[in-house]
Amino acid sequence: MTALQISNPGELNLVDLEKARAGRSQVVIRVVRGGICGSDMLIYHGKNPFASYPRIPGHEFVGEVVENGEGSKKFKPGDRVVANPVVSCGNCYPCRIGRTNVCTSLQVIGVHRDGGFAQYIAVDESNLFRIPDSLSWDDAVFIEPFSIAANVTSRIALDRSDRLLLIGAGPIGLTILQVAKMLGAKVAVCDMVGSRLVHASGMGADMVINTAKENIGARAAEFSDGDGPSAIIDAAGVPGLMAGLAGMASPGGRIGILGFSTSISEIAQYEITRKELTIAGSRLNNNKFPQVIEWMASGKLNPSSLLSRKFPIGEARKAFELIDGNKETILKVLLDLEAL
Ligand SMILES: [Zn+2]
Ligand SMILES: [Zn+2]
Repeated sequence: MTALQISNPGELNLVDLEKARAGRSQVVIRVVRGGICGSDMLIYHGKNPFASYPRIPGHEFVGEVVENGEGSKKFKPGDRVVANPVVSCGNCYPCRIGRTNVCTSLQVIGVHRDGGFAQYIAVDESNLFRIPDSLSWDDAVFIEPFSIAANVTSRIALDRSDRLLLIGAGPIGLTILQVAKMLGAKVAVCDMVGSRLVHASGMGADMVINTAKENIGARAAEFSDGDGPSAIIDAAGVPGLMAGLAGMASPGGRIGILGFSTSISEIAQYEITRKELTIAGSRLNNNKFPQVIEWMASGKLNPSSLLSRKFPIGEARKAFELIDGNKETILKVLLDLEAL
């Protein structure tokens, strides 16, 4: 089978490997689409601390079941499925309390182990979900990205009473915007790139703030009638913003953090205690696939608005170069695994 392999940081090659085979309780999927994510780019550039090499990247992928392994009965050949890339042990403390996405021995398909940018992949059937017929492959490949948005909004219990200040209008920020609007929140979106804010406006942002030109604190206060935003999500992962965000938040506010920076963020206890702020980290997704599939099948999300380009797997290098060269304007780039 053909697979896209990062043999070493910066080295992306199409390789011919033995076809994937189903282990116990696994199925083999013929992969149809893959979505390239920021974390795939980090693996490519040798900047993802969790990845080892050689690695087949790809944690956003959908396809068709072609083979059942021993003891696997949940799916049959021909079923259209999407894979949750979060693999957890089921025994550790976080797993026992239902927080499987922060399992102490967490493995992510496409990061810690080989992923979906290959013609075939074997996946545990417990990680797979059926794709409704009404969803196209191009839509279904956005289920994983939207699961990130479903997770962070649930971590801060976002609802219709909220005024959400959303930092970052890249692909992750825009999925969060769509979920937040669907949940009924009012949303102000900040970015320093004007073209991204145009996307945010088109997806229903109630206010856009260009941080290259405007004062975020003043605009956030205006957006929340002086109380401060009741919810804040940093989808840009800027460690230096933490103190400012805590200062802006409304008393009783919740702040969702998605960044993986190891830089220190200075933040005073005063703001956290005085206002009883909740600061919640959000990693990948905790069993959010069924919810996202339901939202998508009922037409509440608009995945096609996030699609920038689609390349055959044989032109994957062009796809990676396009993303590298157009970081400010590209949203999601897909790989077509059926076309070589
Ligand atoms: Zn991703
Ligand atoms: Zn565990």
